[in-house]
Amino acid sequence: MDLREFFQDADMILIGIGENFQDKFEEIDVADEKNITVLEDYNRKKYLDGNPKSDVTEAYEKLAELLEGKNYFVVTLCTDDKIYNSNIKADRIVAPCGSYSFLQCEDVCTEDIYPVEDYKDVLDKEEEPVCPKCGKKLLMNHIGVKKYSEEGYLKKWNIYMKWLQGSLNRKICILELGVGMKYPSVIRWPFEKVTLINNKAKFMRVHKQLFQLTEEVRDKGVSVEENPIDFLRNQIV
Ligand SMILES: [Zn+2]
Repeated sequence: MDLREFFQDADMILIGIGENFQDKFEEIDVADEKNITVLEDYNRKKYLDGNPKSDVTEAYEKLAELLEGKNYFVVTLCTDDKIYNSNIKADRIVAPCGSYSFLQCEDVCTEDIYPVEDYKDVLDKEEEPVCPKCGKKLLMNHIGVKKYSEEGYLKKWNIYMKWLQGSLNRKICILELGVGMKYPSVIRWPFEKVTLINNKAKFMRVHKQLFQLTEEVRDKGVSVEENPIDFLRNQIV
């Protein structure tokens, strides 16, 4: 399936990136365990930053080339921030599951988040940084912590919602890449809904196992049974 052709006459392009793209820490899903300490998380971040998965990087670059000059928005379930190293525009990416680049209060005494960079000295000494407001521990700002502060992505999410509202009567191309059933209310279900309500929508779902289309979107959709990372890497751009 040629993506360049799929995108060709689109007014808008909506991309969903799933957990398949998330970088792993020695095969452990990075945002999967509750009760993880900030130091464990920080070590994971350092490991991930130092060992980039080259096939994912290559896939993002291919996607960036295909999206160049287009009106697009990307929703990702990943928390590893690797997508920001590509040429995909940062102001067109929203990551509702959080980020390994920010810290938050474990108690969410305020929704505020703090750049990990600012606490690097403390973390490098293997000390746990504390909340400047209440003195409790700071944790990484991702969905894997017990109480998740959503402040980090909400502003972006609102921009995305506004963008999406503008798609109603326009040709929108929707591409879902490796999105499973872990958080279906973030990408999978709403993307199907957008496809359903927009008569000019086109939909493509790429997944190694969960590639099937629901009845409602079948006539507007294409299903591709393939690893989405390889699918992107094999695109000719
Ligand atoms: Zn606090």
